[in-house]
Amino acid sequence: MDILDLTAVRLSEKIKGGELSAVEATKAVLGQISSVEDHYHCYVTVEEEKALRQAEQVQEKIKAGELSGPLAGVPVAIKDNICTEGMRTTCSSRILYNFIPTYTATAAKALKEAGAIVLGKTNMDEFAMGSTTETSYYGVTKNPWNPEHVPGGSSGGSCAAVAAREAFCALGSDTGGSIRQPSSFCGVTGLKPTYGTVSRYGLIAYGSSLDQIGPVAKDVADCAALLEVLAVHDPKDSTSVRREETDFTAALVQDVKGMRIGIPKDYMGEGLDPQVREAVEQAAKVLEEQGAIVEGFDLSLVEYAIPAYYVIASAEASSNLSRFDGVKYGYRTEDYEGLHNMYKKTRSEGFGEEVKRRIMLGSFVLSSGYYDAYYLKALRTKALIKQAFDRAFEKYDVILGPTAPTTAPRLGESLKDPLQMYLGDIYTVSVNLAGLPGMSVPYGIDDKGLPIGVQFIGDAFQENKVIRAGYALEQTREWQMPDTKKGGR
Ligand code: GLN
Repeated sequence: MDILDLTAVRLSEKIKGGELSAVEATKAVLGQISSVEDHYHCYVTVEEEKALRQAEQVQEKIKAGELSGPLAGVPVAIKDNICTEGMRTTCSSRILYNFIPTYTATAAKALKEAGAIVLGKTNMDEFAMGSTTETSYYGVTKNPWNPEHVPGGSSGGSCAAVAAREAFCALGSDTGGSIRQPSSFCGVTGLKPTYGTVSRYGLIAYGSSLDQIGPVAKDVADCAALLEVLAVHDPKDSTSVRREETDFTAALVQDVKGMRIGIPKDYMGEGLDPQVREAVEQAAKVLEEQGAIVEGFDLSLVEYAIPAYYVIASAEASSNLSRFDGVKYGYRTEDYEGLHNMYKKTRSEGFGEEVKRRIMLGSFVLSSGYYDAYYLKALRTKALIKQAFDRAFEKYDVILGPTAPTTAPRLGESLKDPLQMYLGDIYTVSVNLAGLPGMSVPYGIDDKGLPIGVQFIGDAFQENKVIRAGYALEQTREWQMPDTKKGGR
C-alpha cells in the first residue's frame, strides 16, 4: 500500500511499530506536494526544511519512547489563519503578506506536542470569509476530484490538501461551515467541535462568538484522534471550556442501535440538489437498518439562520479587523499623507472585495441608528435558534441532514452573486449560532463525479454521539478518495 493512502492513525501506528519512519512519511508527502501542488494550490506556504528537521526530532522521541500518541510522526497541514511561530501566517490576505507570528496558537502547539509534523499553511478564503477559497489573495485552490471545480471554503486548502494526499490530516476553522462544507466538497471528513472545546488563542479572529478550530481528515477515526489532542482547556482563551470527558475515540463503535436520529424536514426541501437529498435518505436508511430510529421533524426558524448569521458574523468581523491598519503588522501603503490617509489607503489596498463587503455590512448593522433593527434582532434570532435545537435534542441524539445544498460548484461561478453564495451556508451556519458540534462525512458521489457529504449535528458537548453515528455510517460505504496519481488529471 502507498504510504500516502494511509490514514493518520494508521500511519502513526506503522511509525511507532518501526515499519516506517517519520522522515520517510514526511518525504513521501513532500514528494506528493512537489508533484501535484501546482495543479491544486492547496498551500500558501510549505516549509520543507523545517518539516524534515521536525520529522527527525520526532523520530528520535518516538524511538526514545517519549511520543506514543495517535498522531506521533504524522505530517499535517494548518490553515493559514492559525498562528505558527516563525512561519508566515497570512489569512490569505494581502494585508498580512509578511506577517510572521511570534507565538504559536494553542491548537497548533497541541498538535506539535503530540508529535505531528507541520508541513505548512493552507490556502483559504481571505480571513475565512467565503465558501469557495476563491477570495484568497494568493490564488484559487482547485478541487482534487475535478480541478475545474472549487474545493469549497473557507478551509478549502486544508480539505483539498487532505483529499490530494498532500497532508495526512489538517486543521481548519469553522465560523459558519468552513470545515464541514469544504470537507463535503472534497470528500473528506471534517468536524466542527462544540464552541469552547478547542482554544481560539492564536486563531486570527473572524467572528469570535462563532469561530472554532477543528480537524479535517480522511476518516472519522482520525477526526476523533485529532479532537482528543485539540480539546484541552486553555486559560489564554476565556471561552475555553474544561471538558470532563474527552475520550472521543471511545465512540468509534459500529453501534447505533436505539439511537434516535432526527432529520429536519426543512433541510430536505426546496433548493436541495436531488442527488444530495438521495444521499441523505440513503444514509438514513442504512442507519435505520442498523437499528437507529430515524424520523423527520420540524426544526423551524431555518429561513432566519442565514440573515442572523451574516449580521452577527459581519458585525464581529468589522470590529475584529479594525486592528489591521498598517501600524502594528502587515502591509502598509507606500504613499500617503498623514495618519488617516495611511489607514485608509492601507486598508483599501490590503483587503479584498469580500472582506470589505463584510466590514461595511458589519459597521452598518452596529451603527447607532440600525443596531436595534439589525444586530439586536439577529442576537434574538440566534437565541431562538438555540431554543429550537434544545427542543430537538430532547427528542433526538443526533440530527442528520445535508452538509451543503449542492456538490462543489465550478470555479468562477459563485462570486458573481455573493448573496446566492451565502444561501449555500443554510445547513451549516445555525450550528455555529447555537455553538453545537457538527461533522461532515463523505457519502456517495454525484453524476459529475463529485463527492457528497452528509452532516451529523449533536447537542453541545455530545461529540461522541456525532462520532458514533458518523463512524457507523462510514463503515457501510466504500473508501472514496480522488485519483491524483495522474498529476492533477
Ligand atoms: N461561508 C461562511 C462565511 O463566509 C462561513 C465561513 C466560515 O465558516 N469561516 O462567512
